[in-house]
Order: sequence, then structure tokens, then C-alpha cells
Amino acid sequence: MKDIQNLFGNCVFNDAVMQTRLPKDTYKAFKKIISEGSQLTPDVANVVANAMKDWAVEKGATHFTHWFQPMTNITAEKHDSFISPTGTGKVIMEFSGKELVRGEPDASSFPSGGLRATFEARGYTVWDITSYAFIKDGTLCIPTAFCSYGGEALDKKTPLLRSMEALDKQAMRILKLFGNTTAKRVITTVGPEQEYFLIDKEMYLKRPDLIYTGRTLFGARPPKGQELEDHYFGTLKPKISAFMKDLDEELWKLGVYAKTKHNEVAPAQHELAPIFSTTNIATDHNQITMEIMKSVADRHGLACLLHEKPFAGINGSGKHNNWSISTDTGINLLEPGETPYENAQFLLFLVAVIKAVDKYQDLLRISAASAGNDHRLGANEAPPAIISIFLGDELTAILEALEAGTEYKGKGKNQMEIGVTTLPSFPKDSTDRNRTSPFAFTGNKFEFRMLGSAFSIAGPNFVLNTVVAEILREFADSLEKSKDFKGDMAKLVKNTFHEHKRIVFNGNNYSSDWVTEASNRGLSNLKNTVEAMPSFISKKSIEVFTQHRVLTEQEIHSRFEILMEGYCKVIHIEALTMIDMVKGEIIPACIDYQNELANLLNQKKACGQYDNSLEAHLLDKISKLSATLLKKLNTLETSILDSKEEQDVTAHASFYRDKVFTSISELRLVVDELETLVARKHWPFPTYAELLYSVI
Ligand code: ADP
Ligand code: MG
Repeated sequence: MKDIQNLFGNCVFNDAVMQTRLPKDTYKAFKKIISEGSQLTPDVANVVANAMKDWAVEKGATHFTHWFQPMTNITAEKHDSFISPTGTGKVIMEFSGKELVRGEPDASSFPSGGLRATFEARGYTVWDITSYAFIKDGTLCIPTAFCSYGGEALDKKTPLLRSMEALDKQAMRILKLFGNTTAKRVITTVGPEQEYFLIDKEMYLKRPDLIYTGRTLFGARPPKGQELEDHYFGTLKPKISAFMKDLDEELWKLGVYAKTKHNEVAPAQHELAPIFSTTNIATDHNQITMEIMKSVADRHGLACLLHEKPFAGINGSGKHNNWSISTDTGINLLEPGETPYENAQFLLFLVAVIKAVDKYQDLLRISAASAGNDHRLGANEAPPAIISIFLGDELTAILEALEAGTEYKGKGKNQMEIGVTTLPSFPKDSTDRNRTSPFAFTGNKFEFRMLGSAFSIAGPNFVLNTVVAEILREFADSLEKSKDFKGDMAKLVKNTFHEHKRIVFNGNNYSSDWVTEASNRGLSNLKNTVEAMPSFISKKSIEVFTQHRVLTEQEIHSRFEILMEGYCKVIHIEALTMIDMVKGEIIPACIDYQNELANLLNQKKACGQYDNSLEAHLLDKISKLSATLLKKLNTLETSILDSKEEQDVTAHASFYRDKVFTSISELRLVVDELETLVARKHWPFPTYAELLYSVI
């Protein structure tokens, strides 16, 4: 036990290390800067940098890097060594406060959506002092935000930090109205559950599609998929168990609270969940988790697939974003309290989330949109593209009773009154907990279940924080003027629920009836990324993000372009990979096999045997399919050429969705059928069965 305790955070320059390593007054000054969110002074920065360097060098580090999160879903780093020449042919190890606080990577090759003209390509990175530095692979990593020279955000962290500030500000206004004098700050917390696949590395290396695109572009259905439901929570295979043990330890060293691990629904699919932390730290840690998953897998002769849909026909991977709001004094504001007053506060925050989700459905939908996730949402394995909230029967009944001013059946005779009566207790994990809902209340938090497994969780969380901050702002604006706080607050809860209850749906989100019902309720159903994205640059979107200083109008437009172009690029790479695999390997394999069949057929004919033989039949079938293959291949090749003519970014993305992606899917059908006909020894790629079942 002791070992794990010592191991945990071993590679992190955390509070405990700072306490022992920093002079007392520097430590105090630094803590004050963090808690107040004020500017780091050069003298404090210098002392911290030096202590950090000494600590890192003792642990074997030779380099430092400003670790940042560009618009790519993965992290970036450029390593500089600590060495500094002494003039005597020797070096000393140095690290200044300036180097700690600010970096200037040559960042011209990161996506910027036109924000950073190449003539001023120098973006800069600034230390996010709320996230601890850590050592990874002999390098001291400093978590940083990444901006352009003009101060525009070029990364995922900056808007997240801004959104946390926005929510803090508005939620504090509400808490003050409730007479809370102890809380200094309100933070959002997140526990992201991460799904992933593990397959044999040898098999992985034989699949260019997995290497280049993260998903299989071909693959006939294996005899066994997930229909027996025997993988979910199944016993861990020794190789997987060894991987998970190693992964946990690596993550613990880096201060990541890895907690739960298990097998998931699809064969070869698994999940890891951490204990929740503040949204910012949870985001950094989730990025670290994804990266470490890949490197540990590699060490174990495995490949970790984080794509949302690595295999057709079986479940893909998502990420459940468990989200809540709490005070710095540790009170979870989405947890029903013991007293009528606490309950009133809970209900006000609850209806704020309900209203935010209803009013900004489109933005939440966009936050979960990507080419990879388009394969999952609405495909009967993940929530549909329609946003709705699951509250559970009890809580819904309570809110309905409050709305109608009627008696709540579970409570006895008393009529419930907000701020006067306490809420009846309802089980946290009601048994009817709905796994199909995209946004489910689970007793003391919401679980946003639409995220794709490869996502940075920064995007969905900055949207969520901002839209909730906006509703809290509306509430605070009106309640601060109120002469009868209790009465007006109760009215606000009732009215808000009344106006936004259409977003509450406790039924089966996978059913086709829900699609019709949702449309009758006026809920939006943005089926794919291209359909969803335009709302991001709508007036409503620009208003909410600019009002709370989370994104400027220019930043919104640049992100829109990056995301749309990213979508096209993903499909473009898929198309090129597919063409390469078909031309380079699949066509030759089909020819070889046809040759073999034709030779045999000729020999048989020479002996006077009938030609309606098995070989003749197969040859005929493969020959016809090969002709279709060629046709579909040509269509795909032409579609890529045609795509170059589209200038407008939305038209370009629509073209990729309607033409290129459709051609990819059609070509795949032909190849998958060929795979079932061509002899295994000729088929150039590992099959689904081999990919999914090789780890024993
Ligand atoms: P499951 O959803 O699998 O039943 P839990 O409900 O226990 O599991 O938790 C799932 C995730 O939610 C975990 O990562 C957990 O740390 C996180 N979580 C629990 N409470 C909160 C909270 N207040 N804020 C954010 N995340 C939370
Ligand atoms: Mg869960």
C-alpha cells in the first residue's frame, strides 16, 4: 500500500513538493497568486523555476517543454535542455522564471484558421499555474496556454480557463443571493470515462488504414461480434490485465487519479475512469491518459485505438463527461441538500442547467461533432444526435409537482414549496438509470455522453460552462433586483422548468419514436458535423461566447474553419488510404486468386471436365465484383479531384460528406464482399476476427 502512496504523484511538482522545496514566503506568495488568479511576479517565477529545475534534474530530467494543447485534440511539446555554457567548456543546468512563464515555439504549422498570418508566425505559450508541472520521459512538462501574438487563443485550454472564470463569476452572484459568505470561488468538476480498444501490435502494423486513419476502412464481419454480450465486465485477459496495471502505475506517477478499469461492450474494448477533479486538471489529465495509454500499449506488444469507430458493426468508443459545479469549500451545487434552503439552491442550479441545455442544444451538439464521432451518434450504440436531458422519474415528478403547485405523490400529503419544504429523498442511482440519454442527471452531477473517445474534453466543457454561466447571469440579473428573493426565486424555478421541460426525456433515446417526438417538441436533430457546425458562427453563438469573454468573434470564425477543414482532411486521408490499399494490395490479391482459379479451370477443361464447377462459379463472381470494384474506385478518385473545385469551406465540407464519404462507403461494401470470397492466403490484410481476437 505504502508503495502506491509513494508512487502517486512522484513525477509531479505538486503542492507537497512545493511546500518542501520553496522558501516559505515564496510558497505563500505563489499560493496567493494561484488562489486570486493574479499575475505571477518575476521574483516568484525565478525562485519557483529554480526549485522546479533542481527537483526535475534530481529525478533525471535533462529537458523542459511548454506542454500545450493546439486545435488538434492532441498535445504538443518542443524540448529544450537545461544546459547553459559556463565559458570554460562546461555547462551548468539552468532554468529561469522567464523560461518557465513564457515560451515562443515556432508555431506556424499549427492550425490557426487564419488567425495567425505567417509573417507573424510566433505564437507564444504561457504557464497555466493552476496545473502542476510534471516529468514525462526525462522532460519537465509545463502545462501552458497557447496564443497568437495578438493574444488570440490558438488552443483548447485558453477558452476552457476563460469559461471557468465566467461560470465562477455568475455562480458566485447566485451564491451571494443565498447568503453564502464562505465560498470564494465556484469551480466546475469533471470525471471523464475513457473508452478504448486494444489490439495486437503485429496486426495493427499490417493495417495501413489503422495507422493512417485510426479506423478500419475495410473488413468483413467476423463470425462473432458483440452479440453474446460476454465481453462487458468480463474477466481481464492476462495481457490486458498487465497492460492496465502498468497504465495505472504510470498514470499515478503523473498524479492522474486512475480509478476504475473494466472490459467494455465490444470485443477488445475497455474503459478507464478517473476520480473527478477540476475541469482544467481533468482535461490535462485526460490528454495525458490518452497519450500514456498509447505508449504503455506499445510496450506490451499492443496498439491502443482511440478512434470513435475503429470497427464497423460493433460498438465504437466514447467518453462520458461527468460534470458538476462546486464551491471551493467543497459543496457540490448539483447535490440536493438537507434543508429547504439548500434544496432551493439546488433546484435553481438544476433548472439553470436545464434551460442552458435547451437554449443552446446546437452548441452542445457541435461540441461533440467530429468526422469520427459521426459514425457513432444516432447509430444505436451511442446517444442520438438529438440533445435531451434525463432527470429520472422521481426528480421529474418533483419538478412537475412544483411546476403545477400540486402534491408530490411520494411525499405524503404536503404540498411542496420551493425554499419552504425539503425535497423528498430520491435514490442517487435510480435503477431506471438511462444509458441511452445524451445528458443524464445521475444524482449529483450530469453525465454528458456524446463525446467521442479521441476528443479533447476541453471543447465540450468550455461550451457547457459558458452556456450555464449565461443562464446564471440571467438569473442573477433578475434576482438581484428582487424585493422578495424567496418568492421570486421560487417563481423563477417553476417558470424555467415550465418553459424548458421539452428538453427532459426519460425514455429510450435509441427508439425511432423519439426522433418523431423530439421533432414535435421542436428539438434540433443535427445529424452530422457538417449539418451542426454552421450554428457555431450564428449570432446567438457569437453573443454568448463574446459576452462571457470565452471566445472573440474572430476566434469563433477561426475555430469554425479549423473544424470544418479538419473534417475534410480526415475524410481526404481516408480516401487516399483506401485508394492506396485497393490499388496496391487488394486488386493484386484478387488477380492472384483469379489466376489460380483460371489455371485450375483450364487444367480441368483440358481433362474434359465440366466448367460449371466451383472454380468457374467463384471466378465469375470475383470477376464481376472486380469490375464493380474498379467502377467504385474510379468514382472515389474522381470525387477527390472534384472536391478541389469547392472554395467555400461549408460547400467543401458538404462535398466531402455527400460525395467523398459516400464513395468510401460504397467502395468498402465491394471490398468486404471480396474478402469473403478470396482465399485467406491471398488476402493481404488481417481480418476483423484476427484484429479483434488476437490478444489472448
Ligand atoms: P458510473 O457512471 O460508471 O456509475 P460513477 O457515477 O461512480 O460511475 O462516476 C463516474 C465518474 O463520475 C467518475 O469519474 C467520478 O469521479 C465522476 N464524478 C463523481 N462525482 C462527480 C462530480 N461531483 N463532478 C464530476 N464528476 C464526478
Ligand atoms: Mg458513467
